[in-house]
Amino acid sequence: MKTDVLVVGSGIAGCSAAIRAAKEGADVTVVTEATRPDDTNTGWAQGGVARRAPGENPDEFVDDVLDAGAGEGDEDAVEILVEEGTEVVEDFLVEEIGVDFDTGDEEGGFDLAREGGHSYDRVMHKGDATGHEIQVALLRHLAESDARVLEAHTALELVANDDESIKGALAVDKETGEAFVIEAGATILATGGIGDVYGRTTNPPGATGDGVAIAALAGARVDDMEYVQFHPTAHAERGFLLSEALRGEGALILKDGERFMEAYDDRGELAPRDIVATAVHEKNREGQVYLDLNPVFESTDFAEEFPTAYENMTEEELETGLVPIAPSEHFLCGGVVVDENGSASVDGLYAAGETACTGVHGANRLASTSLLEGLTWGLRAGEDAAANPREPSGVGREHDAFNGDMPEGFVDAKFEKLQDIMWENVGPLRDGVSLREARTELQRLRGEVKSYARGRLDPELYSLRNAVVVGLLIVEAAIHNEESVGCHRLKAAEN
Ligand SMILES: Cc1cc2nc3c(=O)[nH]c(=O)nc-3n(C[C@H](O)[C@H](O)[C@H](O)COP(=O)(O)OP(=O)(O)OC[C@H]3O[C@@H](n4cnc5c(N)ncnc54)[C@H](O)[C@@H]3O)c2cc1C
Repeated sequence: MKTDVLVVGSGIAGCSAAIRAAKEGADVTVVTEATRPDDTNTGWAQGGVARRAPGENPDEFVDDVLDAGAGEGDEDAVEILVEEGTEVVEDFLVEEIGVDFDTGDEEGGFDLAREGGHSYDRVMHKGDATGHEIQVALLRHLAESDARVLEAHTALELVANDDESIKGALAVDKETGEAFVIEAGATILATGGIGDVYGRTTNPPGATGDGVAIAALAGARVDDMEYVQFHPTAHAERGFLLSEALRGEGALILKDGERFMEAYDDRGELAPRDIVATAVHEKNREGQVYLDLNPVFESTDFAEEFPTAYENMTEEELETGLVPIAPSEHFLCGGVVVDENGSASVDGLYAAGETACTGVHGANRLASTSLLEGLTWGLRAGEDAAANPREPSGVGREHDAFNGDMPEGFVDAKFEKLQDIMWENVGPLRDGVSLREARTELQRLRGEVKSYARGRLDPELYSLRNAVVVGLLIVEAAIHNEESVGCHRLKAAEN
């Protein structure tokens, strides 16, 4: 199969890229593992999309993003996010795609919410299920576009020319097992997050950082991989996220009811996410931490205002108001290094969304800026790829048929091992010793996985291979960054 532009992934970044490239007249093919809107991180986003508040000086939004990123962000990229992002939220998401955001009291105005780290009310939302609303609208629009969409397909590897420019990907149909090369002039990776690298995560299953891994293996530059954001209040067993609003109005308590956050930070439960995440992580080692929602029950109509949390809680939790919580992997700030058009360091390759490192987030992410980043760079990448056509031909690659006969339980067992190593040694708190131990173990694990992966085009095995590669990239970056900054928090620096 040949195409001008191959897009891998159908979250906000992939859909935006594909819709824009197709609109610009390119022949577009989308390969996506997803078959439902809720298979993507985008579909699970709750809070919303930040944009410049009406009348606000853009510099203030830029400053908030840079402050959240601990001064490590790229100012030029943040300016694009703020200026162009605000425009495309209205022109593309609202006007072109028809996302039905909640409106406010003023005629024609949106109901803008304030979130942690924001100096103004900037966040457009649809109840607490904004991502689902956006994802459904994007998929509807994608289906109406001229793009070819291959659902339940996995991109296993990038394929390159002799000059190492990227010329598409090797893909496999998950239902039939058929493997084939899609030759493409440009390839846009938009494969989302890395939750399965840690296991304990707010992400939907299948977030194995495939785009980051296959780009790195093809020689593309990746950066800022140590900046992994952990959400402080995810359900300890079922992983769903309890929002900042619930944390702010509720209380973090130990089993005996004792509150502990003020010993860590004067702002208590409303301290920044990384501080709360490390506090909960430490306290959970002594005994289960709970989010006490009784104050929220008293002050709100809980089911009405927080339907996602309400639907996910058990009867017992709704009765007692106590939810067991633990920090969980939430967002990767780094990824495949791209320029202002989403172009990576190797020719023919682009990345957008959580897969990409645009420089926007620096060492930490400001709430509700990732949908905005995926949208802005997705559109830019789609437009640039369509405007700079490259020859899709020139590759050939030997590939075996899908071969399912792997030792039973191999992938599950090794995923468990990877996740144990990452959580224990490379979690919310790390140090030089834990990181070096992790590196040794992950290198061994990579060797084992590689020996099985040879000759077997099995999507599950490739996901494992990719997750291990991503784990190693995080560990290497963390070892080389000896400063505790943003969401990279070193134990030694705490003492
Ligand atoms: C619970 C939760 C709440 C959040 N709330 C917010 C919020 O309020 N505001 C905000 O801005 N951000 C929020 N985020 C973060 C935000 O949702 C994500 O960063 C963003 O949606 C990522 O979009 P994406 O397009 O990069 O990836 P995704 O939306 O994750 O899409 C990735 C796509 O790639 C596909 N894929 C993956 N690997 C392959 C492969 N090898 N081959 C083919 N296809 C593949 C997947 O099937 C999927 O279609 C939240 C995240 C979570 C998990």
